[in-house]
Amino acid sequence: PAGGRGPYKVMLLGDTGVGKSSLAAIFGGLKGSVHHEEEHAEDSYERKFCVDDEEVTLILYDIWDQGDPGGWMQESCLKTGDAFLMVFSVTDRRSFTRVPPTLLHLRAESPRTDPPIILVGNKSDLARSREVSREEGRSLAVMMNCKHIETSAALHHNTQELFEGVVRQIRLRRHRR
Ligand code: GDP
Ligand code: MG
Repeated sequence: PAGGRGPYKVMLLGDTGVGKSSLAAIFGGLKGSVHHEEEHAEDSYERKFCVDDEEVTLILYDIWDQGDPGGWMQESCLKTGDAFLMVFSVTDRRSFTRVPPTLLHLRAESPRTDPPIILVGNKSDLARSREVSREEGRSLAVMMNCKHIETSAALHHNTQELFEGVVRQIRLRRHRR
């Protein structure tokens, strides 16, 4: 359908060190990606790709860490995103405890009623230093009414699924209107 292919702005959220930039680099390195030159050249990646036989353009923004907590940069991130990847590290419980306040803030700031949000438990390869179980991640996602996936940016595990998943969530909202 016309107008349904983006570009959609996808925002990476989450504590420093959880793996946002690593996920962004994987997204940017995928086939079909073009570096987005106009704004935030270092920190955004534009990619046109096919999901379920339909082409879509996503721009992934890795700018969350650049702003002060609650500052204008983070506010504008929450206001302008079409979809959100809420990342924590399964090896860092503190990053997990920051998820609920960030999502509540997001829901308050976003002009969208029900923005697509995926809760991403990254670093799933680090089994021995895991501090947050898959089940805990899943139940938080249920409680916060968002999708859940565990990824490993180090092994590129579930990363393609993550980016396809966000496209599907965006489309679901579109078709519901
Ligand atoms: P950011 O601060 O959220 O952007 O996090 P970075 O992408 O800079 O990652 C922080 C550190 O964690 C870096 O040393 C990465 O190499 C490492 N890292 C990121 N993702 C993973 C992962 O899935 N597995 C492992 N083992 N290390 C990761
Ligand atoms: Mg970073």
